[in-house]
Amino acid sequence: MRMNGVKYKSILPVVMIGLVVASLMMNGFDTVSGMNQVEAAAASSSSSTFTAFLANNAPGRTLKYVNGVTTVTNLSSTVVLVNKKRNLPSHYVPQDLVIPQIPFSFSGPSPKKQMRKIAATSLEKLFAAAKKDGIDLKAVSGYRSYATQKSIFERNASIKGEAAANKTSARPGQSEHQTGLSMDISSASVGYALEQSFGNTKEGKWLKVNAPKYGFIIRYGKGQEKGTGYSYEPWHVRYVGVFIAGEITRQNLTLEQYLEKKQ
Ligand SMILES: [Zn+2]
Repeated sequence: MRMNGVKYKSILPVVMIGLVVASLMMNGFDTVSGMNQVEAAAASSSSSTFTAFLANNAPGRTLKYVNGVTTVTNLSSTVVLVNKKRNLPSHYVPQDLVIPQIPFSFSGPSPKKQMRKIAATSLEKLFAAAKKDGIDLKAVSGYRSYATQKSIFERNASIKGEAAANKTSARPGQSEHQTGLSMDISSASVGYALEQSFGNTKEGKWLKVNAPKYGFIIRYGKGQEKGTGYSYEPWHVRYVGVFIAGEITRQNLTLEQYLEKKQ
């Protein structure tokens, strides 16, 4: 009996960690408790779970070649890394898209109002905090399908040429908007435009300071053009979770640098 008890006790934590890691690999978050599982792990003493989560989502471990295209494999992870070298499959559509209850710069239904549930819930909190501080933000564009991104890129390329289009708009499969974890945000002070001057407005400055508190990073930062492959976009926020957003912001890293450092 005693032997069994000792055995049981020594195996149980390992089994539990295994279950959490398996769940993180599949989902990256837990909607039951309302708290991101990654955050729960990072905030608690179970840092080994968090380390395992980052290791499983390391850039080098989450890429495969599909028909000659470098395709990411951790599609539904909250730290999925999508950029000019890492594509989402054309068929990928997040399974938990919802419309956050926040003000938009336009009215009427649109697929681009959607985000993944965990990002939508966090964005609602961010907007509530902005309102409390007297900051008037509006959401402009969230989820975008592969097909929509394809037509946007082709239109931009036909106007300004492919090379110029590639600096400001993503090729299909390379847009973070397809992950459902990103939102473009602007304010009346710049006519809800998505332009760099938004970064100089009080709304843009508030967003930069406060977004990480709710799990978002300014994904394409000033001076990070080389690392991200994109011009500065003070309007584009990406959900990664509160803990990781805090670390990335404090250390002034790109998401690429952060994930590479942790692998
Ligand atoms: Zn964007």
